[in-house]
Amino acid sequence: MSTSHKYVFGPVPSRRLGYSLGVDVVPAKTCNLNCVYCELGRTTRQTLERRSYVPMDAVLADIRNAVAVIEQIDFITFTGSGEPTLNADLGRMIEAVRAFTKIRIAVLTNGTLLYLPDVRRDLARADVVIPSLDAVSEEAFRRVNRPHGRLNLADIIEGLKQFRREYNGQLWLEILFVKGLNDQPEHVRQLKRVIQDTRPDRVQLNTVVRPPAESNIEPVAQEWLEAVRRQIGEKAEVIASFQPHDHQRICDNKMDTILALVSHRPVTLQDIHDSLGYSEANIREVLDHLRQQGRIQEKRHLNRVYYFVPLREEMNGE
Ligand code: SF4
Repeated sequence: MSTSHKYVFGPVPSRRLGYSLGVDVVPAKTCNLNCVYCELGRTTRQTLERRSYVPMDAVLADIRNAVAVIEQIDFITFTGSGEPTLNADLGRMIEAVRAFTKIRIAVLTNGTLLYLPDVRRDLARADVVIPSLDAVSEEAFRRVNRPHGRLNLADIIEGLKQFRREYNGQLWLEILFVKGLNDQPEHVRQLKRVIQDTRPDRVQLNTVVRPPAESNIEPVAQEWLEAVRRQIGEKAEVIASFQPHDHQRICDNKMDTILALVSHRPVTLQDIHDSLGYSEANIREVLDHLRQQGRIQEKRHLNRVYYFVPLREEMNGE
């Protein structure tokens, strides 16, 4: 493949954004939360510090290369192996991307820094902002998200409301429920009140699907999510499985391409097939090879086999 894989990955078939080119702007597991359900494992660098974690020019060069050679990208999505709003250059990167492409831009964020005016200013430049809000009680917040000690839930909720007042783009709130931790009826009632005050364009309900950071974590039932969807109202949706478009990816180096996909999140063989269009036999052959080389590992979760790259402390070459 002619694009660099250091800061971009995919496009991956996203449940919400179609074919989404991911952009990774912080080193692996640099986050201010340590969610029990995190599919990337436990947070290794828990920080509130906003700074230039990765070279902005290199990130922009990767995006520019990917846009030049990849046929279909529905969204350029700032996300990745940690919390993207910790990168102090985020707003400038979004502006720079706008200057060379019309592809829509999304940011997936845990939403915890929206109480900071400069973070709200950065995010306001995106077309779609998808913040998380799993808890509206301090107790549930600490149980599910295990935040940095200086984060305060009241500030976070107020930041979210303030952002809604200032932001004209699409705001999609994601709530992830974990069985026994944030699924009490009273908690759902409180969430509903915060949602009414926040007025997101969509509310996306999710649960633990991929292998979580803590092995004793369990998903809530699909029927329970459907009941919460009805309770929250017409803007709510249970995030459904993604159905890919019928087209081929342009990547020609299967090994590099599959490794790039696996290195950003645990994926199943089906995920790789949906994203890249390779035959199952081809994918299986490459995965076996990568596993024998010790570059990936596999793990069974909820009757599915996920492939992942063992967590590195830092991104290569940093
Ligand atoms: S799920 Fe997101 S917010 Fe939570 S620890 Fe993982 S990277 Fe951070």
